[in-house]
Amino acid sequence: MATAGKVIKCKAAVAWEAGKPLSIEEVEVAPPQAMEVRVEILYTALCHTDVYFREAKGQTPVFPRILGHEAGGIVESVGAGVTELVPGDHVLPVFTGECKDCAHCKSEESNLCDLLRINVDRGVMIGDGQSRFTIGGKPIFHFVGTSTFSEYTVIHVGCLAKINPEAPLDKVCVLSCGISTGLGATLNVAKPKKGSTVAIFGLGAVGLAAMEGAKMAGAPRIIGVDLNPAKYEQAKKFGCTDFVNPKDHTKPVQEVLVEMTNGGVDRAVECTGHVDAMISAFECVHDGWGVAVLVGVPHKEAVFKTHPMNLLNERTLKGTFFGNYKPRTDLPEVVEMYMRKELDLEKFITHSVPFSQINTAFDLMLKGEGLRCVMRMDE
Ligand code: NAD
Ligand code: ZN
Repeated sequence: MATAGKVIKCKAAVAWEAGKPLSIEEVEVAPPQAMEVRVEILYTALCHTDVYFREAKGQTPVFPRILGHEAGGIVESVGAGVTELVPGDHVLPVFTGECKDCAHCKSEESNLCDLLRINVDRGVMIGDGQSRFTIGGKPIFHFVGTSTFSEYTVIHVGCLAKINPEAPLDKVCVLSCGISTGLGATLNVAKPKKGSTVAIFGLGAVGLAAMEGAKMAGAPRIIGVDLNPAKYEQAKKFGCTDFVNPKDHTKPVQEVLVEMTNGGVDRAVECTGHVDAMISAFECVHDGWGVAVLVGVPHKEAVFKTHPMNLLNERTLKGTFFGNYKPRTDLPEVVEMYMRKELDLEKFITHSVPFSQINTAFDLMLKGEGLRCVMRMDE
């Protein structure tokens, strides 16, 4: 390839400081070093985490930075030691990696890789502690090892899932974060049996993906719980049969659910990030067999409190990160589920804008409009 081994100049959206709109700049992208891959990003979507880190409230501010972690692209060139990927391969970047060598990667039960586990404070490559992005020689920091708000980016090989080249990248790009998280929380962790009643707390993109998983698992009754009544209409498309708004009731919502289901739901998946919803999700599962799964990322000071009797009565509480999927091993198969039409991604993609309008995508998310906005890099 003509560009391999050379610096590439391209467009990227740079976050110069906290709380400010991103600005499209020309950046220099250095060639990939050992175990790294330079990827041409074709489509990138926006997720809440990008918004949190642009705001940087309660987070370590790392600026100037190139955000973005939900995307699809094509390998442009590879660094020394990369044998699994070659130029032209289609890939999904993932914010949490899989080195395939550590105790977690070798365990069937974990996806929390020791080497490449998400690190939101690090703005450099792990190999040499340097950034691959510069503007006029001045370094621009990376974000969660992916920085997909750039036409080209450099990513550790362990954070790239090689996928079927036939898969449309403008659709499957949304599998690189939120949708896989929700789907996996239900299919891999809650594991509802056919015929189960499932409650989903929080009907954003993650919760609706968890709901999609419940429908795929054959749950005939799916109860959506959200403080926003407007969420019910959209949730019906994802299999929501009943809707409960905690604000409509004087008693705790877990008691409402227990009454509605004659003793409790079989499975509950929490996708709100609020600790009160986490407690409700646990306390609404049936004794004897109920399982609750926490997905939402709570506030730093949050404390989960419940009576130990709730556990002794044979309820199970679990949590998950990226739906327990190992990115390199498992994500290609999730893409195949879409290819076999077992998984519908189109209904998650409610907006699409050219990359130059990236701030519009942020505005939509801040207003709570739609689920996913996919940005087209070539426009
Ligand atoms: P979102 O903001 O789009 O949706 C959250 C929904 O929860 C909203 O509709 C809101 O009205 C509702 N809600 C808030 N408080 C509630 C309460 N007390 N009871 C009922 N409903 C309530 O968010 P999202 O993008 O769908 O993400 C959901 C959560 O998943 C976030 O906390 C996010 O950080 C987390 N997440 C976790 C992982 C992981 O790997 N564990 C990965 C991605 C996202
Ligand atoms: Zn590992």
